[in-house]
Amino acid sequence: LPKSVGFIGLGAMGKPMAVNLAKALPRGSRLHVHDAVTAPVDELWASFPDIIVRCAGAREVAELSDVVMTMLPEGAQVRSVYLEPTTGIIAALSSAPSHPKLLIDSSTIDTASSLHVKQELLTVSPTACFYDAPVSGGVLGAVNGTIAFFLGCSPSDSNIPRLKALLETMGAKVIPCGGPALGLAAKLSNNYLSGIITIACSEAMDMGMRAGIDARVLAAVFAAGTAQNAICDVFNPVPGVCPQAPSSNGYRGGFRLQLMRKDIGLAVDMARRVGARNVLGASGLGVYAAASEAADCRDLDSRVVYRYLGGRED
Ligand code: NAD
Repeated sequence: LPKSVGFIGLGAMGKPMAVNLAKALPRGSRLHVHDAVTAPVDELWASFPDIIVRCAGAREVAELSDVVMTMLPEGAQVRSVYLEPTTGIIAALSSAPSHPKLLIDSSTIDTASSLHVKQELLTVSPTACFYDAPVSGGVLGAVNGTIAFFLGCSPSDSNIPRLKALLETMGAKVIPCGGPALGLAAKLSNNYLSGIITIACSEAMDMGMRAGIDARVLAAVFAAGTAQNAICDVFNPVPGVCPQAPSSNGYRGGFRLQLMRKDIGLAVDMARRVGARNVLGASGLGVYAAASEAADCRDLDSRVVYRYLGGRED
């Protein structure tokens, strides 16, 4: 593992990922961290005062680190953190262009932003290696270190051993997806599928329950039949079916509606760009967009679309 690592973006996912990284780094290592808000930075420093170094900005993190990870909300923040000419990571690369840096972006963003960042970094530092490595597994997976990384490179990339050593401190699986931005393409395809399944599962559960079948029996039927899937089994949108699921906790925690709306929107854009047919995309996006605005759903776990679609909760 590198002795000097950076982590930018300590939100719902980034903070527990940085905690697992801090726990795994050998003695004498430094983890340089930054976030636009100070609270998570200070909390992390209070937990690991010997390892954590609080930095004022992205440039400082990159100047002090051999490897930098970013976990930010959207393409706009990723572009600014990397490419802002005086305060961004690119400024650190410009002042030491031959210092080999490994830069890993785990945010779920559009593939164009990711490719643009990679290109711009290479123009100032030919030795900079930028990878997209979005994750799946949610906040609980980030806390438990069981997330999967979808890596935008080929399995024969010479940095794979270094990347795996680092990412496996935070997750259980690292899957190389073929080339630049293909980790993101894989992630958007995955979230398109799980987002659409969530809507189908909500409708199928409500249909069967209204016909008179008990919700748990219905979930057991799906689990035994051809409809078996992880949303029904683990994240069932009907309250009470899966006691550990956000639906059984007032739809709190989990994966926010707004993030699902963003990801389905990015997936629909990608489908259009690559010429893939996408008949469920428009209706799926419409459901998540409208639910994100609904007063009784807003800011809750994405499985609250069951409520938005009129599902019975008694
Ligand atoms: P979040 O909003 O909780 O955290 C983002 C963090 O980035 C915040 O702490 C924010 O202050 C910080 N930030 C924003 N702009 C910044 C800037 N310019 N400089 C420094 N810090 C900045 O989001 P999250 O849930 O941690 O998600 C991060 C990414 O991971 C998103 O792209 C999301 O789609 C993806 N993701 C989330 C989940 C999940 O379950 N929450 C699961 C998989 C992937």
